[in-house]
Amino acid sequence: MNFYCANAPFEKANIVIVGVPYDGTSSFRPGSRFAPNAIREHSSGIESYSPYFDKDLRDKKICDVGDLPLPFGDKELVLDIIEKFSSKLIKNKKKLLSIGGEHLISYPLVKTFAKKYDDLVVVQLDAHSDLIDSYRSEKFSHATVLRRICELIGFDNVYQLGIRSLNSSDLNLPKRKENMCLFNLDKASEYVGQIGSKPVYLTIDLDVLDPSIFAGTGTPEPGGVTYKELIYCLQQLSALNIVGCDVVELSPQYDTSHVSTIVAASVIREILCIL
Ligand code: MN
Ligand code: MN
Repeated sequence: MNFYCANAPFEKANIVIVGVPYDGTSSFRPGSRFAPNAIREHSSGIESYSPYFDKDLRDKKICDVGDLPLPFGDKELVLDIIEKFSSKLIKNKKKLLSIGGEHLISYPLVKTFAKKYDDLVVVQLDAHSDLIDSYRSEKFSHATVLRRICELIGFDNVYQLGIRSLNSSDLNLPKRKENMCLFNLDKASEYVGQIGSKPVYLTIDLDVLDPSIFAGTGTPEPGGVTYKELIYCLQQLSALNIVGCDVVELSPQYDTSHVSTIVAASVIREILCIL
């Protein structure tokens, strides 16, 4: 089953969707590896037209290539497979939307894009800063992923929105005070002005949303943003030159009403409109 309306043949598509079913470092409640297929299934319950962007997925050329065949347990191999796949895709000049999985999957994706664009910027929407240097002795984890990305592309080039779970020392890291927006998404337009026309990789950890509309996630964090606030933020970010994107951290088994899964599918529809 494909994501709704993502039926273009690969050669003709300019946007490619791939599922990345990995949750090997999830620190609290795993299960995000089941998200890609749950999102595909529930995407048939939403309309193809976005009233927020006045765009229709039917007018776009989107190909859903399915899930990457990832092993369980071998993290290095998983990261390697993701990187190789995204490298191939970039060579084909496609825009990539990856569906996680947990947040660590962003690392090999950003690595690939950073090889192609030396001025790459990452914009992260998340409840968590993900800036821990090492989590339970692991350097590569969904709790450390943005720290690794900062080291990869420079602390100046990472912009964070919606953060409300962090260490006080995170704010003393280079540029964090200016480039981290606590609690809400208000700085989006300011960031857009600073980033200008640079290529942007957008990573959306869905737990940025409030658990009242997005309970289906491994580490829910109260005090989050509403769906309409997220849409307004995406409207601001649509002015950016977004070259790649991921949507991570839905865990469908904590989503007994399936509302979180439908919310995830809707967020993906809106992102497809701005890619
Ligand atoms: Mn995260
Ligand atoms: Mn998070």
